[in-house]
Amino acid sequence: MDWYSNPNPSQGGRWAEQDVKELRRKLITANHILHHHGVVDAYGHISIRHPQNADIYIMCGYMAPALVSSPDDLIEYWVKDSSTVDLNAKKGYSERFIHGEIFRMYPTINCVIHSHAEDVLPYVAATGVQLLPVFHMAGFLGARVPIFDIAKVYEQGNRQDMLVRNARFGTALAEAFSVNPASGFPAPDHNVVLMKRHGYTTHGTDIETAVYRAIYTKINASAQTRTAIIRSAFLVEGGSATKGDDGFEAMSEEMIEGCRIMNEGTQDKPWRLWAAEVENLDLYVNNG
Ligand SMILES: [Zn+2]
Repeated sequence: MDWYSNPNPSQGGRWAEQDVKELRRKLITANHILHHHGVVDAYGHISIRHPQNADIYIMCGYMAPALVSSPDDLIEYWVKDSSTVDLNAKKGYSERFIHGEIFRMYPTINCVIHSHAEDVLPYVAATGVQLLPVFHMAGFLGARVPIFDIAKVYEQGNRQDMLVRNARFGTALAEAFSVNPASGFPAPDHNVVLMKRHGYTTHGTDIETAVYRAIYTKINASAQTRTAIIRSAFLVEGGSATKGDDGFEAMSEEMIEGCRIMNEGTQDKPWRLWAAEVENLDLYVNNG
């Protein structure tokens, strides 16, 4: 039986059985992988839900992800309001509300990643060009990637720096993952939400899934941009547009769905490679 007819079961269903110490170590590794692949630089972050207490999530404190090295660097927050479990906890990220509100609305989500990856920025820069899956590894993007515009939820007196710095902004972002937010949020409809003039956020039922989506969103964006560049060059040289109005032949919905299933069946493989890469680089220390 091949991977397509028997995709690897997601670890999400077994999340509650996993050892929190092991998951903390894996979370540190994930911080390093995301840095090594340019998903995060000094900014951007990843969190996980506590496996034995779904009301708590865990993410690193106010530091660059590449430098996270020990469980002492991690902070536990309450899902209900993103306050720290330990009242004496060190400083955390102002954008932790991205994570807290997504965990609060979607009980099936166990890992959240937020990024400002450079390759994705053209698609959040208010040009109107949509991010689309251009190859099979990005089927998880779906036929439409929503764009969250924080400007629509600003109220008078809000500092307009695009940061998701409170629960109200976080709630609005979390709602963008659902086609019908009034339905009670049983599960998200979208795996990635772009954030206008800011970046993107993705998630998974486990760390491997979320990391795969974060990295391949970036790779897909880079490929789409280069596709547009060669398309433009071809037209300048006298070629003629034969595809859609924008010169891009998108994948069909059936193709996207088939690729999405394939993605979920194979994403444990790159994780093992990516983890081995960072374990062999001196910059990254994992004492978890
Ligand atoms: Zn941000």
